[in-house]
Amino acid sequence: MGHNKTVWENPADLIRATRPENPVMVFAPTVLQDTARRFLSGFPGLVTYAVKSNPAEAVIENLVAAGLRGFDVASPFEIDLIGRLAPDAARHYHNPVRARAEIAHAVKAGIRSWSVDSHSELDKLLANVPSDGVEISPRFKLPVTGAAYDFGAKFGATAELAAELLAKVAQAGFIPSLTFHPGTQCTDPMAWDTYIRTAREICDAAGVPARRLNVGGGFPSHRVHGVVPDLEAIFTLIDETSTEAFGADRPELVCEPGRGLVADAFSLITRVKAVRDDNHVFLNDGVYGGLTELPIIGNIDRLEVLKPDGTSRGPDEMGRTVFGPTCDSVDRLPGELSLPAEIAEGDYVIFHGAGAYSTVTNTRFNGFGLMGHATVMSLDAAV
Ligand SMILES: *Cc1c(COP(=O)(O)O)cnc(C)c1O
Repeated sequence: MGHNKTVWENPADLIRATRPENPVMVFAPTVLQDTARRFLSGFPGLVTYAVKSNPAEAVIENLVAAGLRGFDVASPFEIDLIGRLAPDAARHYHNPVRARAEIAHAVKAGIRSWSVDSHSELDKLLANVPSDGVEISPRFKLPVTGAAYDFGAKFGATAELAAELLAKVAQAGFIPSLTFHPGTQCTDPMAWDTYIRTAREICDAAGVPARRLNVGGGFPSHRVHGVVPDLEAIFTLIDETSTEAFGADRPELVCEPGRGLVADAFSLITRVKAVRDDNHVFLNDGVYGGLTELPIIGNIDRLEVLKPDGTSRGPDEMGRTVFGPTCDSVDRLPGELSLPAEIAEGDYVIFHGAGAYSTVTNTRFNGFGLMGHATVMSLDAAV
């Protein structure tokens, strides 16, 4: 077909030339590197990348090229992936529950930074990890505020337990640090304020100063029209609150964004299979594919609809019910999406800001889920 081009100008260029039948995830490395530099220059500490949000090798390589030197890893696979692609980078093993075999794997791989949220899991680490220059960070949680959903439902100790764990870590000769995660897509900067002040209280209760404070992921991406996340405002608040709360004892800061770093560097191109009953739009991708997250954290409304010739189908005009391709009735996007009134079979619906928790959670359920990947210079669809 003569489509050996590997880098396209933009999504419209790709659509015009290839008219893809399967969903295509397009990646703009320039956008990823720009976001990485924004974190590196704006965040007042070490920036690490939460690999689980998108472990594509091209993502890791571009982050390293942009100057990123740390990664949050959660499994032996992610430990080895970063060991291979970024051998000099720090790897923080921040999954607070681990099998003994996973601990052994990580020790062998040279992991020097761990998180924990219970006495039983800390005891496992103390028994199996040499303490020499190794950091253990109790992870604590607060009642959720400002995030798209509650991360604390699974992981995180109460402040009281975190103080016990911090004291025990220091007593065992490890480097004592603290970590938290305010919840993903956290649009309220004040969530960090409360967490940072609580970190100080935990240190006081334990009688142990934390060497480092990891303020988590949770940095928002651009999912909704007109609501552009102000990362710099969050960085400034984290910086000022840390100084206020800790004064001269201020720990070194670390962050571990996933979504906030990677989401906006990708757009998902889907195709309209059918428009039924004037209202139901059936796409070739849905909640078992690249749109898994939408029922959990809400629709992406940064959409563009293109005709097969790559030109715009026009402005949003009408709320539609949108279904994915599988025969499961759960395969439906939440609520309604605003789509052009003239949308037709064969059109392309582009979801912007789709790079986090999408390619990795794509399944082959019902025989769908074959997803193409392409690189673009720009994500502006209709240029
Ligand atoms: C998932 C995860 C992150 C990344 O979260 P985002 O909301 O994508 O930024 C960071 N740290 C830990 C421990 C995580 O589990």
